[in-house]
Amino acid sequence: MPRKIAAGNWKMNGLSDAMPEAIAIGAASEGLDCATVICPPATLLARMGDAGVTLGGQYCHPAGSGAHTGDVSAPMLADAGATWCITGHSERRADHRETDADVRAQTEAAWDAGLTAILCIGETLEEREAGATLDRLMAQLDGSVPEGANAENTVIAYEPVWAIGTGKTATPDQVAEVHNALRERLGPDMALLYGGSVKAANAAELFALANVNGALVGGASLKADDFVPIMRAL
Ligand code: PGA
Repeated sequence: MPRKIAAGNWKMNGLSDAMPEAIAIGAASEGLDCATVICPPATLLARMGDAGVTLGGQYCHPAGSGAHTGDVSAPMLADAGATWCITGHSERRADHRETDADVRAQTEAAWDAGLTAILCIGETLEEREAGATLDRLMAQLDGSVPEGANAENTVIAYEPVWAIGTGKTATPDQVAEVHNALRERLGPDMALLYGGSVKAANAAELFALANVNGALVGGASLKADDFVPIMRAL
């Protein structure tokens, strides 16, 4: 059985005054039947160690250390308290021109540092309208999932690019079609998350789908009042 995961991607949001939110999320996660992971900006990771929540990075450089100004490596994330790391988020693919090969190398680096990867894939609106969604997603899996991926070291997050931060959630039928195809391809055990404008109001109907094992949540993960109901819906 795949595990259930509620993951929050804080993106480039959060200063030290966000700590009470992390603590409230950590407290609410106790006793729940799902893993709760918060991926704060790297600047907050180390100090969120006492918040009682499982932590993840949002990206890692493929190298462990070196002359890469402004970057963060997987061993650094682990050293700061992370046990998870997002790889291949569409904002990284777009803003930093990360390719599938980059994402594969980052995912391997995450594993090497003992981090579980939340590897993101997703189609653009143009690709969906052209009927190319599944082809695009399978090509992203071909290119970015390393040899050796398993249910322990990797979780796949399906995040349609057109649904991220737009308030437009994919319909349950659209999510089911993709997740059923991912399940077929990735086997029975790997956790499959949906991401893209997940909120308390739509979480339950998404989690009711057979092959949705949780969510990767952006905007609605920043405040405990928004995120805790999503965790509880799982
Ligand atoms: P959103 O972001 O929930 O704000 O749409 C999701 C994500 O980018 O992971």
